[in-house]
Parts: sequence; C-alpha cells; structure tokens
Amino acid sequence: MKPQTFNTVSQTTFPSAEHMMEKFMKTQEYIALEEKHGAHNYHPLDIVIQRAEGVWVYDVEGNRYLDFLSAYSAVSQGHCHPRIYQALVEQAKKCTLTSRAFRNDQLALFYKELTTLCELDMALPMNSGAEAVETAIKTARKWGYERKMVPDNQAEIIVCEGNFHGRTTTVISFSTDPEYKKHFGPLTPGFVFVKYGDVAALEKAITPNTVAFLVEPIQAEGGVLIPPAGYLAKATEICRKNNVLLMFDEIQTGLGRTGKMFAYQHETGAKPDILILGKALSGGFYPVSAIVARREALEVFQPGHHGSTFGGNPLACAIAREALRVIIDENLVQRSAEMGNYFQEKLRRIKSKHIKDVRGRGLLIGLELWPQAGGARRFCEALKEEKLLCKETHDHVIRFAPPLVITREELDWAFERVKKIMESMS
Ligand SMILES: *Cc1c(COP(=O)(O)O)cnc(C)c1O
Repeated sequence: MKPQTFNTVSQTTFPSAEHMMEKFMKTQEYIALEEKHGAHNYHPLDIVIQRAEGVWVYDVEGNRYLDFLSAYSAVSQGHCHPRIYQALVEQAKKCTLTSRAFRNDQLALFYKELTTLCELDMALPMNSGAEAVETAIKTARKWGYERKMVPDNQAEIIVCEGNFHGRTTTVISFSTDPEYKKHFGPLTPGFVFVKYGDVAALEKAITPNTVAFLVEPIQAEGGVLIPPAGYLAKATEICRKNNVLLMFDEIQTGLGRTGKMFAYQHETGAKPDILILGKALSGGFYPVSAIVARREALEVFQPGHHGSTFGGNPLACAIAREALRVIIDENLVQRSAEMGNYFQEKLRRIKSKHIKDVRGRGLLIGLELWPQAGGARRFCEALKEEKLLCKETHDHVIRFAPPLVITREELDWAFERVKKIMESMS
C-alpha cells in the first residue's frame, strides 16, 4: 500500500526546485512568474534582488545597487547586519515560538530595554506596523470608556489629512487617499480629520468624546512633510489640557531615522502617551512592532482583551533587542544626523529645473519635483539604471532613506548619480 500523504498537491504537479531551474532564472522570468501568480498590489521597480549586505543589494544578474530606501526604513541598521543575524541564529536554535500562553525568557528583557529606551512605562508587542496602530486605537478607545468615561461607542480619535498608518480595514478607514479606501467599505467609524500641522484645527476638533490624537511627527509616506516648528509640543500641551491621549506613529521616523532616536525629540516639550514602533525595530529580519505607553493607558488591558499568536515571541524579542543595541552601539542616531545634513546640503546645491524643494531630517529626505517634471517615477527608473535604488512617494516626491550605516564616500557615490540624472533628464 502507498504511504498516505496529507498534501493535496500531488508530487507530480507541485513544481520541484529542479523543475523551476532557479539557478538559471533571469530577471524577466522572475517578473513574468510574479505577475502571473501574485496579486498586483505593488508596482515595484524591475530589479530582482538576490542578496544584500549593508547598504548594497545584488540582483539575480549579479549587478550591485545602492539601497536608498532601506525597505521603508526597516533596514536602518543595514542589510543582514551580522550582529542581528547572530542573535537570530542563536535564538532560532533555542526556541522560536511559545505563544503568550506561556512565558519566555526574552520578552521580559525586551520590555525592560524598550520601555527604558522610550522613557515610557509599558509595552505591547505585535508583528506588523498596522497591527501596532490597531493596538494603539484599541488602547485609546478602551482607556476612553474606562478612564475618561466616554459613553460607549462614542469615542472619537483625531487623525491628520494625508496620514499613512498602514493597510488594515480600520486603518484605511481613516486614510484620506481615495485609492486606499475605494471598494473596501463599509469602513470603521469614529475618526475625525484635521489638517496636518494646524494646532488651531486640532484644538477645535476636540470634543468631550475625543480619546486620542494620532499623528506622525513627519509624514513620510505623505511626501516627507515636516510640520511647522512647535507643532508637536503644542499638540502635547493641547492633549494634556483636554485629557486626550497623544499617539505618535514613529514606525518609519523612529529609531534614529531622522537624526534623533525619535522624531518628536526634535521639539522640546513634545512627548507622547503612546509611541508606535515597527520597521527598524527588527533591523529588517522579522516583523516586529510594538506600542510603548504610559502605564495609565496600557493598564486597561486585562487577560483576553487583545493578543497575537506571534506577538512577543522569543525569536522576535531576541532580534529586536539586538537591533536596538546595534543602533546605540554604532551611534546610528548621530550618524543619521551628520550624514543627513551632509547629503541634504549637497542636494541643495544641484541646479536642476526639476527640483522644487529639498527637505528632511537626518537620513529621511524628500526631493520634491515640479509637477511639469513628469512625475517622480521616471526619475527613480533612471536612477535605477545608475544603480541607485529609490522610490517615489506620491507623484512628485523622491524619498532618500539609505541605511543609517552609510558612509560619506557612499553618499558621494549616490550624489554623483542623483546630480547627473537631475541635470540631464529632459
Ligand atoms: C510602514 C508604516 C506603517 C505600517 O507598517 P506595516 O508594517 O507595513 O504594517 C504604519 N505607519 C507608518 C508611519 C509607516 O511608515
């Protein structure tokens, strides 16, 4: 009798590695397969990356490119950082997942180190950034009903126009980008919009039912938009005065990206009740996110109120602990500030009819093009031909966000290419 198999795909139809001839596949074959069998929810540049190290990535043809996006700031520590890799391997040998039904010996230490770094009291780990945002929303609502005594189901959370907080159904419910929302309804209610950077609008939008204000200290996806000086400090004051939780989404701007450990630290007096982190929290090895908050907010959770099978698992915690330590030991926050200033100054000296504005903090930089430049995408494609990988955000902004370990020489290398394209494109 044949041995029983649980696999519904028979041995003959499931493609073997040999059958796929992976070793001989070229860029166009990968792209064709991906387009045929994968959902088309992204529009990537046509480069198929095979391996990466530090600031460099290599495609299947053996070409080397400088990564100027860092997986949207998830690999701020550089690709495949050897110390984080080592932490991953060591932990993977021991134990990867316990679920929160049992305790593990990494979670407590991760909590201690993360809350110390953030100067906040408690943390709640999740996996993706969007899940952490969801967690912040649940925390704010629960706090609102149980501490602020908002009538049930009446809680309001104020958000900003042009925000980006992720892609879950609730999170896209308060996006102002129609593309993110169309035909995904019915949407989650309970969100109120204000103009980004406008303190008067924030003050006016607050009602007795307002439980939180959710804001990005810099709107990165929105086009690297920096709010007016004093905005975050004033928002802090307004939220305190009105008993509203202030929630900073620092998933992209946090952990050194902008030349401070957290972007809100560019303003004295700014301080969140809830800080939302992700991306570089794992140095790109694994999805790790968390909210870190004042005790008063996070203590509303009791057993059964919220959870995640993978959230807080020992592998994630070991990776995140090392990812944080690398940022500190390698002085990446200061590097980001120095290298960011250096590169921004150079960019400002380019003479190009296409450039409308250069702005940024640290190594989160936006190059805004005039509308008549024909869109940022074609510039990103031209830069890719020069072996520099960046990505447009919205139609007219190119974001530059290399790993924070980048050297001055590597920035000079990138600069020559940016300058060439900006000056030579018609
Ligand atoms: C990337 C990002 C998110 C979503 O994170 P995912 O891990 O993609 O779910 C949320 N907020 C901000 C500011 C981000 O940049």
